[in-house]
Amino acid sequence: MEHLNSKIFKIVASAAKEQGVRAFVIGGFVRDCFLKRPSKDIDIVVEGSGIALAELVAKKVGSKLSVFKNFGTAMLRYKENRESEWIELEFVGARKESYRRESRKPIVEDGTLEEDQQRRDFTINALAFSLQEEDFGALVDPFNGMEDLKNGLIRTPLDPDTTYSDDPLRMIRAIRFATQLGFTIVPESLESIRRNKERLSILSRERIAEELNKILMAAKPSIGFYLLEQTGLLEQFLPQISKLKGVETLEGKGHKDIFAHTLQVLDNICPNTDNLWLRWAALLHDIGKPSTKKYEPGTGWTFHSHDFIGGKMVPGVFKQLKMPLNEKMKYVQKIVQLHLRPIALAQEEVTDSAVRRLLFDAGDDVDDLMKLCEADITSKNDKLVQKHKRNFALVREKLIEVEAKDAIRNFQNPISGELIMQKYNIPPGREIGIIKEYVKEAILEGIIENNYEQAYALMEKKAAEMGL
Ligand code: ATP
Repeated sequence: MEHLNSKIFKIVASAAKEQGVRAFVIGGFVRDCFLKRPSKDIDIVVEGSGIALAELVAKKVGSKLSVFKNFGTAMLRYKENRESEWIELEFVGARKESYRRESRKPIVEDGTLEEDQQRRDFTINALAFSLQEEDFGALVDPFNGMEDLKNGLIRTPLDPDTTYSDDPLRMIRAIRFATQLGFTIVPESLESIRRNKERLSILSRERIAEELNKILMAAKPSIGFYLLEQTGLLEQFLPQISKLKGVETLEGKGHKDIFAHTLQVLDNICPNTDNLWLRWAALLHDIGKPSTKKYEPGTGWTFHSHDFIGGKMVPGVFKQLKMPLNEKMKYVQKIVQLHLRPIALAQEEVTDSAVRRLLFDAGDDVDDLMKLCEADITSKNDKLVQKHKRNFALVREKLIEVEAKDAIRNFQNPISGELIMQKYNIPPGREIGIIKEYVKEAILEGIIENNYEQAYALMEKKAAEMGL
């Protein structure tokens, strides 16, 4: 069995034999073997004590063992040889579970392999390889997971209402796997998710965010967001995104569906970035649109200041998913807030001062901002798309040119507050801010160059005007 080539499987098998227990490789590792996806985590399930087997294996390979007594699991890291990568093995006793309605925490009892497979989320995740001598490597597949794997189907081993209601996290996991693997959730399962959507309320927001991040990191995240919307899950934890759906028409004029547009932008940016937070910014870039939407007779639909309002909404989205309000949040907020700036630039004559202002406001995130703007072109009119792309190419050139000349990206005012206080012998106060702002504005407007001499001279002029 080529999947179990690594020596470690033979070691686990012989340890299990010594203890007189049956052991199996189970779950994601088995699934990924058949999908030819790399997988570094190996789950071993034992009809007996997972911890006892792990202890013996750890002794045999000389690894340190981490034991999680409360969960009845143990984990060790193993490396076949110097060149190979670390793999993580997790051991657990086979178990049978029963659930209470109000909690994700089951009542757990020892069980057989088959009982353990039943409590797994999906048939493709319930596959196991035997580690017994007599049938080493044989596939144990009581729920036809192999068939589903071949047909690209997500199906629960038990009645989906039971599986999803027991642990509602599985509803989002179904959508996450459908997105990552490009699989289809079978219709009765999708129906069941719709029926059980309210069960989401017992989940912690952190666990939801974790799954959302995995969906966002897939090659085509829109698959997941369409499914979350269709099943009614999205409005429960990201109402700002589900509200983007729909088209209103007045005087025969409709606006584009912002939900579909947003997901297109998100998919567009994926080949160009693996930065989760830039993908978040793509998802959130238009959340300010519903509350700023207006119909202006003669003009049509407008969304004035949706960039600014959208930026203001970002902390609320993070908070509601219990994501930290740290510099990542600020980055997302900044990108959302600035997302129209390069577009505005591309439509006008690109002046040096407008470029300097953009470099000043975006700083080192200007390249990410450009990626979002390019992804934001979703017109179906090819001529228009080409025109926008050419304009952005010009903006990019201009950004490089102006930055080389004026070094604005990490702008440091050549005139410090200290310098002003010392030279004019004044205490901290508003004069200092006024002078610094005056110098900064003059540099951004191109009135003076970004250097100490010219800035110093301008400081002297302004100070004289102020009577210092
Ligand atoms: P990935 O590593 O991409 O998240 P995975 O399948 O390895 O995929 P894990 O979350 O590591 O996912 O879970 C390992 C295995 O444990 C799964 O394959 C599945 O059999 C089982 N499992 C995990 N979470 C659940 C759950 N909520 N309900 C039932 N079974 C689960």
